[in-house]
Amino acid sequence: MRAMEPAPPPLPLPFRTLKPWLRERFGRAVYRVALDAGSTCPNRDGTKGLGGCTYCDVEGSGTGALKAGDGLDDQLREGLKRVARRRRRGSERAVEPGVIAYLQSYTNTYVDEGRFAEVLDVFRPHLASAGGPLVAVAVATRPDCLPDSSLRALEDLAQETDVWLELGLESASDKVLFDINRLHTLDEFQDATARARQAGLVTVGHAILGLPGDGQEGARNTARALRQAGVDGVKVHHLMVLKKTQMAHQWRQGELAVQTAEEYVEWLADFVERLGPEQILHRITGDSPEEKLLAPIWTVPKNEIRERLAAELARRGSCQGSVED
Ligand code: SF4
Repeated sequence: MRAMEPAPPPLPLPFRTLKPWLRERFGRAVYRVALDAGSTCPNRDGTKGLGGCTYCDVEGSGTGALKAGDGLDDQLREGLKRVARRRRRGSERAVEPGVIAYLQSYTNTYVDEGRFAEVLDVFRPHLASAGGPLVAVAVATRPDCLPDSSLRALEDLAQETDVWLELGLESASDKVLFDINRLHTLDEFQDATARARQAGLVTVGHAILGLPGDGQEGARNTARALRQAGVDGVKVHHLMVLKKTQMAHQWRQGELAVQTAEEYVEWLADFVERLGPEQILHRITGDSPEEKLLAPIWTVPKNEIRERLAAELARRGSCQGSVED
């Protein structure tokens, strides 16, 4: 019997992914702990709009942990314990993993100044600079909800740890943003990004490919806008129609098309080619609990999107950042 030949080392991907960047930045494995600070959304309470973005389900991307009675401090301690258990099970016993505290739910800078300061203070005793495991704090918000007071508070925290500000752009088209009831503009995104960069924050822009009326050229435009804004990182996913959303109704009426996995990969390749070569892709596909998802139902496993994207870029002879048009 012929001895089995060792598998060839994997080829480098033609785009920049988060894991190697985290390794390079922090020198150890890093896990994220998602937290709910109990913030709300101006696009639901009438300040910006009512009903929310048409793709957002009633739970508004929130975990609901705070409402369920889990204070932020308790959530964080529980999350840190979970990471510590992973360490005991994992192979990297010698090195304590780093943790990113992620304020994910709703619009986290849409709170009064005092409350925002209280929220950020919860992290301070756990920061790596204070001997704890937190290597970064990530805060998700809308680009039209970044008052100077919140920015100053984040800038102060950035003296002690890495602070990521995740800003939802979703589409570079103001018309698409209006039609999906997001009710902010591309200019507001560019402005928020510039101010956050000036304040020394790491910026991450969110995009959705396949929003109604956006099309393949819209996907390319969104990448161009993210490149122009100079965000450090990008999260992108395909349009997912969830139950209990306005889009669910449109989809049931046959008024809304969703992408096949093949189409998404093609559009994603266009998108990635037009990002800056240095921008880090934090995410390239979506994830939704099975019980919430109406469409599209793909048989392609999530991990395979990465391989398919690499294959599509190889087929084109291109890579991230190779197209400037
Ligand atoms: S997606 Fe964000 S901004 Fe839009 S309604 Fe949901 S929580 Fe609000």
